[in-house]
Amino acid sequence: MSGRLNDYIDTVTSRSSFLMPSRKYILKICLLGDGAVGKTSLVHRFVYDAFDDKYIMSFGTKVSKKTVDVGDTRADLMIWDILGQKAHESLHGAYYRGAAGAFAVCDFTRRETLDSLSSWVSGFRSVVGETPVILLANKSDLVKTFSPEDVRMLASTFGAEFLETSAKTGENVEVAFSRLTAKMLEADK
Ligand code: GDP
Ligand code: MG
Repeated sequence: MSGRLNDYIDTVTSRSSFLMPSRKYILKICLLGDGAVGKTSLVHRFVYDAFDDKYIMSFGTKVSKKTVDVGDTRADLMIWDILGQKAHESLHGAYYRGAAGAFAVCDFTRRETLDSLSSWVSGFRSVVGETPVILLANKSDLVKTFSPEDVRMLASTFGAEFLETSAKTGENVEVAFSRLTAKMLEADK
C-alpha cells in the first residue's frame, strides 16, 4: 500500500462469512470552495441526513466522522470542513495535509463560485498531490446560472468527475460520498 493514507489498520473481522481478512481505512476528506456554496450543509446532510436553512458564519475547522462501506471494505471518513470563507491558499496547508481526497464545491446560483474552483483544486493538489477530487455543483434545487456542460468542462481540466447535488433535497449526496470513497480506495491500491 502507498504511504498516502493517514492510518491503516489491519483487522480480521467476522463480517465476511468466509472470514476473509478485511482492511480498515481511515480517510481524510477536505471540502474546498467559496463561502456559502453549501459545504457545511452537504456534510450535515450526509452525516445527519438533515438540512438547516441558516448560514452559520464561524471560523476554524470542524471534523465530522462517518463510516462508509464500499463492497466489503469499510472506511471511516474524517470529513474536514473549513468554517468561514477565506480562499487564501496559504492558510490551508495544515487543513489539506494528509487528505486522501476532496470535494470541490460550487453553487449553481453563482457562476463565480465555479470559476474559483481551479485555484482551490490547484492549492489542494500542491499540498497533497494527485489525489481524487470530485466537483459538486450544489443547490441543484434552485435556478441555475450555468449549465452542467460548463461544470463538466471545468471538471475535465483537473481530471475530476462531477455531480449535481442538493444539500436541501439530498440529491446525490450519498452518491457523492460513496463515489469519492471508492476512488480514494482505488487510488491507494
Ligand atoms: P458553506 O459556507 O459552503 O459551508 O455554505 P453553507 O453550508 O453554510 O450554506 C450556505 C447557505 O446556502 C445556507 O443558507 C444553506 O442553507 C444554503 N444551502 C446550502 N446548500 C443548499 C442547497 O443545496 N440548496 C439550497 N436551496 N440552499 C442550500
Ligand atoms: Mg461552512
